[in-house]
Amino acid sequence: MTTIDSDPGVRRMRAFGTTIFAEMSALAVRHGAINLGQGFPDSDGPPEMLAAAAEALRTGQNQYPPGPGVPALRTAVAEHQRRFWGLEYDPDGEVLVTAGATEAIAATILGLCEAGDEVVCFEPYYDSYAASIALAGAVRRPVTLRPVAGDRRYGFDPAELRAAFGPRTRLVLLNSPHNPTGKVFTRAELTQIAELCQEHGAYAVTDEVYEHLVFSDAGDTHVPLATLPGMRERTVRISSAGKTFRCTGWKIGWASGPAALITAVTRVKQFLTYVNGGPFQPAVAVALGLPDSYYDELRTDLEARRDQLVAGLTDAGFGVLPSEGTYFVTTDITPLGGTDGMAFCRSLPERTGVVAVPTEVFYDDPEAGKRLVRFAFCKRAEIIDEAVRRLRA
Ligand SMILES: *Cc1c(COP(=O)(O)O)cnc(C)c1O
Repeated sequence: MTTIDSDPGVRRMRAFGTTIFAEMSALAVRHGAINLGQGFPDSDGPPEMLAAAAEALRTGQNQYPPGPGVPALRTAVAEHQRRFWGLEYDPDGEVLVTAGATEAIAATILGLCEAGDEVVCFEPYYDSYAASIALAGAVRRPVTLRPVAGDRRYGFDPAELRAAFGPRTRLVLLNSPHNPTGKVFTRAELTQIAELCQEHGAYAVTDEVYEHLVFSDAGDTHVPLATLPGMRERTVRISSAGKTFRCTGWKIGWASGPAALITAVTRVKQFLTYVNGGPFQPAVAVALGLPDSYYDELRTDLEARRDQLVAGLTDAGFGVLPSEGTYFVTTDITPLGGTDGMAFCRSLPERTGVVAVPTEVFYDDPEAGKRLVRFAFCKRAEIIDEAVRRLRA
């Protein structure tokens, strides 16, 4: 008789438990807590976009869209990148619509990495990165972002970055503006990354889902890595509608890049989901074409929410680190007597009625993030006020 294996899961995925968001969101429900853990907005996206989705649902656009995405969306994605970043992509062959940025990242890594290839990435990192790298049998080479003495902005040691590159480096995976730190990589930092990529013949994969959320302290300007000399030809640029248009449940994302790279990504993507979100695709095309005022308001509104939460957290005694973009701010719990962010976040909902996320889960080296805790400010002003009131008490 054969026995049933208690864990039949593949070895390369065993290190991955349930995501921290599931655990913390369950605690939020149990304690009726305000969830500043997961980064989803609590208000809907632009009405023009919602109306276009409803219209598409009602007018029979409910079957499989074309594999690369509906033409209107691919065209809108290309036009958007020309309008904001001066980047030119051919909607036919250089743009691929995906099931969110998450699928684009997974398909890019799976499509470009042989087993044993190395992927340089900055930790703390978005939690799907490590899983996608492991699925590909590739090896991650993390470079740690740390609050730098002085203004405590997150930075990296250029020598550590250089040392992470080697003969097996295949990709650099860069997220700017960066979740969970709120760091916006400077042009000087991007130049170092670009030079190392070119020196080592590596490709770049950029996760730019917060491209429209760079705040005034960072000069309101996002710099896509693909705009640096020599980088367009070796970069897969990824973004999605979720964060920019407050529709994280729609899972409409896209990858742009030279045709040879997009072909390699498509080869994998077509067998992961094939396609998704038929009626949402034309709606996102409408949203991408909204006037500059939409994007300006999105940014100034989020910046005001950030200021509000930062003031409240500072008042409550947290050591607040600078956030220049995204939906997030990280805090040091040392001034509150905390030494263990995980324990702190597990007890916070019951103690205060607020949920946050321990940043250590985003590091290969949990020690590096042991005392850091992340809060999301993509919530309505009254919710942030109430969260701050609870944290102070
Ligand atoms: C939210 C987020 C994603 C996921 O985007 P989807 O379009 O929902 O898949 C990817 N990367 C980062 C850094 C994020 O914060």
